This record gives sequence, structure tokens and C-alpha cells, in this order.
Amino acid sequence: MGLIVQKFGGSSVADAARVRNVASIVADTYREGNNVIVVVSAQGDTTDDLIAKAKEINPKASRREMDMLMSAGEQISISLLAMAIEAMGLPVVSLLGWQAGFRTNSAYSVARIKKIDTERLEKELDDRQICIVAGFQGINKFDDITTFGRGGSDTSAVAIAASMHADRCQIFTDVEGVYTADPRKVSAAVKLEEITYDEMLELATLGAQVLNNRSVEMAKKYNVKLEVLSSLVRKPGTIVKEATKVEKMLISGVAKDTNVSKVSIVGVPDEPGFAFKIFSRLAAKNINIDIILQSVGRNNSKDIAFTVARENKEDAVAALEEFCTTVPGNTPTVSVEDVAKVSIVGAGMETHSGVASQMFEALYSAGINIKMISTSEIKISVLINESDADVAVSAIHRAFIG
Ligand code: ASP
Ligand code: MG
Repeated sequence: MGLIVQKFGGSSVADAARVRNVASIVADTYREGNNVIVVVSAQGDTTDDLIAKAKEINPKASRREMDMLMSAGEQISISLLAMAIEAMGLPVVSLLGWQAGFRTNSAYSVARIKKIDTERLEKELDDRQICIVAGFQGINKFDDITTFGRGGSDTSAVAIAASMHADRCQIFTDVEGVYTADPRKVSAAVKLEEITYDEMLELATLGAQVLNNRSVEMAKKYNVKLEVLSSLVRKPGTIVKEATKVEKMLISGVAKDTNVSKVSIVGVPDEPGFAFKIFSRLAAKNINIDIILQSVGRNNSKDIAFTVARENKEDAVAALEEFCTTVPGNTPTVSVEDVAKVSIVGAGMETHSGVASQMFEALYSAGINIKMISTSEIKISVLINESDADVAVSAIHRAFIG
């Protein structure tokens, strides 16, 4: 007997049969004697459809009204799931974010959870009710509905698990867990039994879209034991937990991110202050920079290259071109290209040598040229041509995992 939080994503509740399937998973967990709080996302593509409807009417709609609209998707799925559980004869109550006590700041569409007032949830659980909570939404100090950003239901689930001191937070999805690479692309990819929060965070930000990265950050902060598993196959999934309790894998995964553009500026004066001048202009435009590379200075000039998400490349180039007009003497030149970032992640790297050379050897054997390299304690990333990305992932996966 314990408290289990279960989260089901949009594909897990996409139609009536899937909703009934989720109801039976929840019912089994409840009948085993557990208290159960369920967090659900909007069905299938509902959130995208709502956004499309808004665009038809007002492409510049305020974020307050967008939140009012988008939060409606989850209202549909919580009530339908509750009805399916009612039909099984079990006690159940559906709750919108505000009813479940989610208090947020007022950053509409990217709201942060300030706290969860847990009285209502506690009372319902005391009455042995199954609670079905709308994901990705809360209420601010003006009593307005707010949402947490796309994929925010994972964060709702982890936040409830943390505030209610749940024994486990299960994130159900349409894959069986976290894999060493995308199993649709790499047939040798294997499911991991366990992974550390830090590895999962790296993989989440690298575009292995199993968990929203804010939810992993929160799970790490509050030490919430997460399990990622399939709603379609009843099998144990992948446990995400603290490093000390996991046997450190040398490499836990190979990920690729193709939402990357590399911006270069060639012929920057090799004098103090220019990196600051360039990056402060980008920061002023709220452009997030990932990898940065600066060349060795020659003939009083140097080159700087960095990466941004593709949606930011035009803004980044514009900011640099503006900067170029302020440079005395020869004007630097700016260029941009779309690239892919391929990364390996593994907590064991920290204490192991030779990992980088093994990765580069795999790329060399596949005839792939590296444009940029960046590393952290548990990650090595390379930038390569986008057309080489899948081959690179397979070659690296073969070298480390087999
Ligand atoms: N329904 C929201 C979305 O599609 C929240 C979620 O799925 O987690 O982004
Ligand atoms: Mg969704």
C-alpha cells in the first residue's frame, strides 16, 4: 500500500479504447491497495488542434486567452477517464489544475508552479477516491488559468509526487522506457533498466523526447523516483534516480538533435571585449546559445562560431550583422548553416578515459567529418552535417553498445 502518481500522455488516451485501457491500469493499481493520483494530457493532437483554431481567428491572441483555450484539452481527457473508471465501479473524481491546488506565477503559457495546496487531494485520497488531475495547468494570483508550456503534464505529475511524497511517479508513454538510442532508427538499441537524473536531463535536452526536461529537473531536486513505461505493454520500464544508486554505465545513450544551426563570424578583431560585445547582443534578444567555439587568433583576427535553435538563426544573424557595422577597419563576415548535433551521454565517462577518442574513431570509420566538439562531465557532443546524423548515431551506438 502506497501512493502512486501515474501520468498518461496524449497518445495513451487518444480514443475510447485507449481511455479504457488507461482506466484498467489505474484500476489495477488501486485494487492492489494503493492510493492513486492520475495526471493526464489532452487526447492525441487536441492541443495542436486548439492552437490551430486560435490561429484561424487571431494569430496574435494574448497568452492569457491561449491558456484559457489550451487548458480545455485536459478538461476533456480527465472527465472521460473518470467516466471510464466510474463504469468499472470504482470511486473516482476528476479535478482541474486549480481544484487540485496548483498555484503558479503569472507567466501565461510558460507558468512556473509556486506550490500545490494539497488539502483537496488529501481529502479525496482519505475517502479512497482515485484522483484524476488535468496536466499542464494551474491558477495564478488573479484566479486566471495558466499553462506550463508544451509537454508540461510531466511536470504536473512530478510536482504532485513531490508535494504528496508519493512512493513512485510513473510516466506512461508509447515507448517501453528510455533506450540507448531511438529504437525506430537503431535496431540494436536496448531499453535501460535504470538511468541517473543527470543522464536523463542530458538526453531530454538532446531531444530524446521521452520526458520533459523541467520534470526531470524537478524530480532530481525533490528526489522523486520516476519510472518511464509503456501504457500499451505491461512490462517494467526505466527507473530514473539518483547517481549513487545506479551502477554507472559508461554510455547510457546516443542522441541526435537536428534543430541546430551553426552561426559563424569570421574576422573579429583579436582584442579584449569582442566576445562580450557579440554575446551581449544575442542575450539582449533572448537567444539561447549552445556550443561556442573560438579559433586561435592569427594576424590580429579571430573567428567565433556558435549554435542556436533553428528558429533563432535569423535573429542571431541579424544581431551579428548589426554588430559588424560597429567594428572599425575590416568588416567581419557572418554565415549560417543547418547542422545536426550527435551526443553520447554516460555517467561513467567522468571517471573513464578514451571515450572521446572511441567516439571520434567511430565517426572517422564512417567517413563523417566533425565541425565542432563540446564536452561536459557526462556528455560529448559533435556537430556534423545533418545528412550524416543517422549514420553517425548508428556507428557510435555500434562502437559503444554493440
Ligand atoms: N497537452 C499539452 C501539450 O500537448 C501538455 C502535455 O501534453 O503534456 O503540450
Ligand atoms: Mg500532448
